[in-house]
Amino acid sequence: MKTTTICQGCWEQMHVPIAIRGPFSILYKAIGIRKSRMHPNLCTVCESMFTKVKKHKQIATPVTILFADIRGYTDLSQSAETSKLNELLHTFYDQCSLAVWEKDGIVNKFIGDAVLAIFNFPLNRKDHVRNAVEAAIDLQKNCHDLKDSIGLGENKSFGVGIGIHTGECYIGEVGTAYKDFTAIGSVVNLASRLQSAAGPGEILLTSEVFRSVSNDFPGSENRMLSLKGFEHQVSSYVLG
Ligand SMILES: [Zn+2]
Repeated sequence: MKTTTICQGCWEQMHVPIAIRGPFSILYKAIGIRKSRMHPNLCTVCESMFTKVKKHKQIATPVTILFADIRGYTDLSQSAETSKLNELLHTFYDQCSLAVWEKDGIVNKFIGDAVLAIFNFPLNRKDHVRNAVEAAIDLQKNCHDLKDSIGLGENKSFGVGIGIHTGECYIGEVGTAYKDFTAIGSVVNLASRLQSAAGPGEILLTSEVFRSVSNDFPGSENRMLSLKGFEHQVSSYVLG
């Protein structure tokens, strides 16, 4: 991934050049603006000021949400050493971040051993659905290699489960006492539920996501899911 001198998000959204690298970045750092932890080519203004600039606390926007987490981590945590587990978790976070950033998504949060990534905000990309699917494939590949390297290649109950859904979400600051920049709405909930239903090594897509990539993945299988909080079964696709 190429790093940029100015914040890509502020430039694309507002045409404001905010230096995040190079000599001018010192001026911005002095007033508290620095690189975002969610993407190396974004700045902290992207996290807090978009909503102020757009005059709303949250804005409704079409995005693709990807949740990934480590299956079998709890079992492993009972047998493996803490230092080895920490290392594993760090490597997983790194691999997630690299795969997501490469496709212009942001890593919004790490929740325990799970990751929430958002595509199409603040970097608007026409192909955000496909980008998320490609990031998931890269992520699975990297984690598969990681499994091999730590001698867990044969362990079938250990691996990464991924869920992806797309649609309109509310993005912005949630909460007043503790402000948190994130995405909320039913699209986020379904993506999260899908991820819980994904087995180790699987990528589960909703029909809305599958529609955009179906031609390239003829080996995908339909799977009906009974999900917590959903009255009817949800149609999903196991990417293959
Ligand atoms: Zn920015």
